[in-house]
Amino acid sequence: MRAELVAVGTEILLGQIVDTHSAYLSSELSKLGIGVYYHTSVGDNWDRLKEVVKLAASRSDVVIFSGGLGPTEDDLTKEVVAEVLGFELVEHSPSRKFMEDMFTERGLSVPPSNYKQALVFPGGRVFSNPNGTAPGVAVTHAGTTFILLPGPPTELYPMFTNEARPFLEEISPGEIVVSNVLRFYGIGESHLVAQMESLIREQTNPTIAPLAKEGEVTLRLTAKAQDEEEARRLIAPVKEKIIAIAGRFLYAEDDDTLEVALVKGLREKKKTVAFVESCTGGLLTEMVTSVPGASAVLQGGVVAYSAATKHKLADVPNPLIEEHGTISMETSLAMAEGIRKRLDTDYALSTTGVAGPDSVEGKPIGLVYIGIAERGKPPRSFRLDLGGSRQKIQIRAAKHALFTLLE
Ligand code: ATP
Ligand code: MG
Repeated sequence: MRAELVAVGTEILLGQIVDTHSAYLSSELSKLGIGVYYHTSVGDNWDRLKEVVKLAASRSDVVIFSGGLGPTEDDLTKEVVAEVLGFELVEHSPSRKFMEDMFTERGLSVPPSNYKQALVFPGGRVFSNPNGTAPGVAVTHAGTTFILLPGPPTELYPMFTNEARPFLEEISPGEIVVSNVLRFYGIGESHLVAQMESLIREQTNPTIAPLAKEGEVTLRLTAKAQDEEEARRLIAPVKEKIIAIAGRFLYAEDDDTLEVALVKGLREKKKTVAFVESCTGGLLTEMVTSVPGASAVLQGGVVAYSAATKHKLADVPNPLIEEHGTISMETSLAMAEGIRKRLDTDYALSTTGVAGPDSVEGKPIGLVYIGIAERGKPPRSFRLDLGGSRQKIQIRAAKHALFTLLE
């Protein structure tokens, strides 16, 4: 089944809003195994919208429109679709009644312009809208199904979930799509892809799609099947092959980010952690505290930016700083061990480095030391030579620090 999405609204063309509905609907449709072939954005203009409707009707099995179901003159979607299909719109009395009740409850009478929102396609489907006055409408004509959803996100999202999605499941031939995302850290995208080039090229069900972001690489395995069980069965052997090649860089799957994986891992082991951050300025702590349930593992995080603070809050001996500088393996080790002892945790991480744009202590931009302290063991340190902007260096340093604890 070929689907097409049409986002209606001049605001989109003017760049005043971003068409997030199409991104949302595309991802939802792909989960249903419905391929989306086109996204079109069009303004609130009768003739251009008409062209778009005609073209979509000629090439797609399902067309989903968002926006333009409002009460005003420039809300035209339903009217234009009706004209192209040669339909007279008819009144849907439950929608009219719902609208009248909504206004009455607020002590208002229905503005005459609103009544057109209760008009629907003859013989079509109506999706109720508990969050607004415009019902959604759907109709099939000459082999193409047209679905019209209201633009406001508070109306479109629940309507899609509760009404349009079940409707699509009803009309789509039963294939579903299941994805499994494998998340890697510490290996570059080109490197990872090079190691499994033929696998990626030859694999069709599931397909393998690599994606790189801020030092992380993900491989998305997507299988099409009759049901979820069959899809998982198709994915399993391919996943095994990938793990055999790059398993040591794999840190989590699906929605588990580094910080989520860390919180989960430490919770399972019933271990605690503390952070002392210099060049990451609290980012590490922020990432971990964004995970629900982090309080079970995180005792605290300190931003120790100056040398004096590293001494005061993480007990780094002043002579050590004088001898090695703040950006050194020695300082990173002392910071991690200092905060671990002070907060009495099982683990601690420290970061100290040069995020740029200027070098510090004659050390190059991007030089970062990550210290890891562990109860009952000598602390360890990693040296990173990172590239990119100040922000990139900070994010990568924080992510790398999290990754070192996951190993
Ligand atoms: P209304 O009754 O509010 O006029 P409508 O169905 O006519 O509803 P629009 O006027 O097209 O919808 O859009 C209403 C609001 O919904 C927009 O101002 C915008 O905030 C949001 N919106 C519309 N389309 C999109 C889209 N494609 N992506 C993200 N947001 C959107
Ligand atoms: Mg509108």
